[in-house]
Amino acid sequence: MSFVEDPIDFDLWGVMARDCGEKARELLHATRPTMTRFELLQATAVAGADTRLQLLIERVGWAAAQSWAKKLEGPFSAIRIVAHGEQPGWPKAQHCEIHALQYGGCLGCPVCCGFFLA
Ligand SMILES: [Zn+2]
Repeated sequence: MSFVEDPIDFDLWGVMARDCGEKARELLHATRPTMTRFELLQATAVAGADTRLQLLIERVGWAAAQSWAKKLEGPFSAIRIVAHGEQPGWPKAQHCEIHALQYGGCLGCPVCCGFFLA
């Protein structure tokens, strides 16, 4: 028996900043092109009022995750890069200080151990 797993990819979460509706809509549209205009308006209607983290980007490689984190800063705050499938702030999650990355599982940080989508 063998276990074959795909390398870890990453999600980005963030909180919409106040008064950044249009910028946030443009970024969301770029990152999640399947969202309809109505969904974009709904998602950004809460700007400044809803401080919960929302999923911004799903399943990107490490380089893209870091690049997106910089682009999202401004219209969004509290940007977090999280191993795909993990919920940010989950009490049992682990955090790598070197990579500012939340991950789960028992193998350690996927970037430190080299098992990630680049
Ligand atoms: Zn690490």
